[in-house]
Amino acid sequence: MDLLHLPRINGARLWQSLMDLAAIGATPRGGVCRIALTEADRKGRDLVVQWCREAGLEVRVDEIGNVFARRAGTDPNASAVATGSHIDTQPSGGKFDGNFGVLAGLEVMRTLNDLGIATRAPLEVAFWTNEEGTRFTPVMMGSGVFAGEFDAAFARAQTDLDGVSVGSALEAIGYRGTQPAGEVPGGMFAAYFEAHIEQGPVLEAAGLPIGVVSGALGQQWYDVTVTGMDAHAGPTPLALRHDAMLAAARMVDAVNRIAHDEAPHGRGTVGYLQVSPNSRNVIPGRVEFSVDFRNLSQDGLDRMHAAMHAAFEGIAAAGGVEVGIRQVVKFEPCAFAPECVGSVRRAAAALGLPHMDVVSGAGHDAVYVARRAPTGMIFVPCKDGISHNELEDALPEHVEAGANVLLQAMLAHAR
Ligand SMILES: [Zn+2]
Repeated sequence: MDLLHLPRINGARLWQSLMDLAAIGATPRGGVCRIALTEADRKGRDLVVQWCREAGLEVRVDEIGNVFARRAGTDPNASAVATGSHIDTQPSGGKFDGNFGVLAGLEVMRTLNDLGIATRAPLEVAFWTNEEGTRFTPVMMGSGVFAGEFDAAFARAQTDLDGVSVGSALEAIGYRGTQPAGEVPGGMFAAYFEAHIEQGPVLEAAGLPIGVVSGALGQQWYDVTVTGMDAHAGPTPLALRHDAMLAAARMVDAVNRIAHDEAPHGRGTVGYLQVSPNSRNVIPGRVEFSVDFRNLSQDGLDRMHAAMHAAFEGIAAAGGVEVGIRQVVKFEPCAFAPECVGSVRRAAAALGLPHMDVVSGAGHDAVYVARRAPTGMIFVPCKDGISHNELEDALPEHVEAGANVLLQAMLAHAR
């Protein structure tokens, strides 16, 4: 099929749906607050489900509140080609994070209806429960249960700060379904694609509308405690100090150096630091801080882990302090399925859309789904790379381009 005859989604309709959904939980500064399993989330879910039913899709809800909407295929034995994302937001979230992927999937279905195109395989659009993890942890809860990372009973027992459980919140909003999580009628997805805003600055800087996502960085998070000795800032000579803050500062610098040594995919961040006693004329006796390491390979993360231990222990010994390092989070690096990554790349090329290969620095539902089904992701730029912010923004032409790539990629697997 040549360029001119490829089916295209309706960009204006997709944009209008994004704005209509963003009106639910809208904040004064142009953002959205639709936290998982709240009344606002119920209204958002109800609207998307209504749109799915109006498009003739058959809706299922699983036991953790994930919603799947299916467009039947012509082959009763074919497993579905799926897409999706999330519609919950951060408390000061934006209109596009997650919502774009779900509504792009819905727009694919609406477009195929308009054009009278039948597919061999069924198509599905999903939205996953509690991706953001702001009210309930763990994050990416619904896709994690779907993938078998944790079981539904564990997830439903998690509580928010008021003691409300996921299970009772699901019941309160009417989204505790009956389908066992991870079961898909007709068998596991033949392929899964997720369209998402990039949430970073790479595509915008490159001036490209499409990112072909080859995988996601693995993550290892640590809690670090440096213990020295509180002492008076005046009478204590420099050589006789056990300054936990000075050692911690050198460790923060080491984290940055270790990440630089793993260019281009290494990331190292210290985003949390507590100083004790935190008094201007006392040499700090204790510092606690976090380390967030990311890299594209487990070998790379292992090197960062070893380099951190060596650096921190050397700094501690030289500074006369003790250091304790505890690993608290681990997400393995994820390489998406070559056939799905290839489909995204070919779709962009067929549509004449400039594109580049990128990796995701953030976690996404697709990373969990990738454990169960061949998976790929499509990124579109967001303004100034800003996300998890009310100012999050994207251009209509980029949103349209991303949904057209999604349409072509899904058709390549479903026809
Ligand atoms: Zn998201």
